[in-house]
Amino acid sequence: MRPKYMQLPRGVMVGRKTISKVNELCRDLQLEGRALIVSGPTTYGIAGEKLQNLMEEEHDVEVVITREGSLEEVERIKKIVHDKGVDFLAGVGGGRVIDVAKLVSKETAREFLSIPTAASHDGIASSRASLKRGDSSVSIPARAPLGVLADTEIIRKAPYRLIASGCGDIISKFTAVKDWQLAHRIKGEEISEYAAALSLMTAKIIMDNRNVIKKKREESTRKVVKALISSGVAMSIAGSSRPGSGSEHKFSHALDSLTSTPSLHGEQCGVGSIMMMYLHGGDWRDIRDALKRIGTPINAEELGISEDLVVEALRKAHLIRPQRYTILGDRGLSRDEAVNLARSTGVI
Ligand SMILES: [Zn+2]
Repeated sequence: MRPKYMQLPRGVMVGRKTISKVNELCRDLQLEGRALIVSGPTTYGIAGEKLQNLMEEEHDVEVVITREGSLEEVERIKKIVHDKGVDFLAGVGGGRVIDVAKLVSKETAREFLSIPTAASHDGIASSRASLKRGDSSVSIPARAPLGVLADTEIIRKAPYRLIASGCGDIISKFTAVKDWQLAHRIKGEEISEYAAALSLMTAKIIMDNRNVIKKKREESTRKVVKALISSGVAMSIAGSSRPGSGSEHKFSHALDSLTSTPSLHGEQCGVGSIMMMYLHGGDWRDIRDALKRIGTPINAEELGISEDLVVEALRKAHLIRPQRYTILGDRGLSRDEAVNLARSTGVI
């Protein structure tokens, strides 16, 4: 067996008004010197500016606003890190911002703090970044954040659709793990039982709380955030996104590549998971019920896409990361099979 390397966050703070404890966290993690805050145009106003004011009490602080999660942005910010003599980074914003900060952190060998303003996907604490290269999106090994600061007060105020999407991403772990187990059984792929169990547990917690998440209480926000962090940790334990990304993610990535106006990542993965669970012969109705109660899309209409697009994405999904074996097999689905699958599960 190959030696294993797991990179995990060292300090995680989740709760109300935790943003005010940023300097405490920095001291604890021995983050000193000049900080670069990476934020987004909207999220800077929501949390970035406040973070800047707080951090300026103890650090020299530079700020950069990033508009897109692309490799060009990573290059631009790397230059700022070198030109300004930055010692560490703080990514404050949504998934794009955190993924950019994550890769800059790896490529400049600087530590970074992950400070999410929404709970829409599980990149918060993972060591992988999903970024744009030209028209396609790529998943790149990056660096796990040294610290995670999740202020549930800020996250709770984000549009509900974002947290619902995060739940879709977590629920989709059921099929991701099933795909992994399948690849283990028939392709001999190495599997980490710990990573698989942790990933399944996060999905189960969200399923069990399907009726309370919509109420947007601090407690349920905290549950979703913790599940997203644990899911990222599961991927770090596995050393790949395997525990969190299977055929349902391939479906979502295929949609991204087929339309210029995709829905949210977790929304697409949720719908993908309904269909892939049907193929696995598992309880796909339960997944659909949970997504519905949480208030995230369960069909093409609610995703705002055409039936043809669903069928096309199903047919193309196996071509995404073809080396990652899933229930879609090496050949994928024919048109008739894809139509059947989408109809049988009420997606079209
Ligand atoms: Zn995902």
